[in-house]
Amino acid sequence: MNQPHNKITPNFCWSAIDTVLLDMDGTLLDKYFDDYFWEEFVPQMYGAKHGLSIEQATAELLDGYRRVADTLSWTDLDFWSDRLGLDIPVLKQQVSHLIQIHPFVIEFLNYIAAQAKKLCLVTAAHNKTLAIKMKQADLTPYFDTIICAEELGIPKESPEFWRKLEEMLGFDKSRTLLADDTSKVLHAARQHGISHVIHVARPSSRSPIRYSGEFPSIVSFDELMF
Ligand SMILES: [Mg+2]
Repeated sequence: MNQPHNKITPNFCWSAIDTVLLDMDGTLLDKYFDDYFWEEFVPQMYGAKHGLSIEQATAELLDGYRRVADTLSWTDLDFWSDRLGLDIPVLKQQVSHLIQIHPFVIEFLNYIAAQAKKLCLVTAAHNKTLAIKMKQADLTPYFDTIICAEELGIPKESPEFWRKLEEMLGFDKSRTLLADDTSKVLHAARQHGISHVIHVARPSSRSPIRYSGEFPSIVSFDELMF
């Protein structure tokens, strides 16, 4: 999984697409915020509260994160506030200046809007995270619909999520494009039958580019303006 792959260049016609589904964290917004928050800031605060060293706090937390990976608990701020004894929304607000929109995202959203396609934000983020992020980097005016996975009660990593979403939004999956930075999510969407899936190969501005070996990849959205 960690070995480098060659880039698969996206190859489709926009005229064949009516609906564009976009992930938020790592896709439109810089995942550096999330990485910093969970891997550095929360361990500092948790360690301070419980009298643990940074190393102890980090090890304990990373183990806790792994246990709920790919479930709705991972993104549930109330779950973490209870579990850790910290006010997670307040902590997110404290470092919200790190929430940044990736380069070319606004240009791309305008490009799609000009073609009168349906634009839908499909995020695993909890509604409290969404509110904090949109306060700092408001993308909501661009979208026809905003869906948080918790509304459907199923994680995006499950094909069932995409079946339910199709039922809810009424899109034609053969004329729909999804961009996301998580391979498991792209797998699930493709398994359900969404025709065009695009992998975002640099979710965090501080991480190296990692192309997918299976999905067409982009580093930034200027690559989809053709
Ligand atoms: Mg993401």
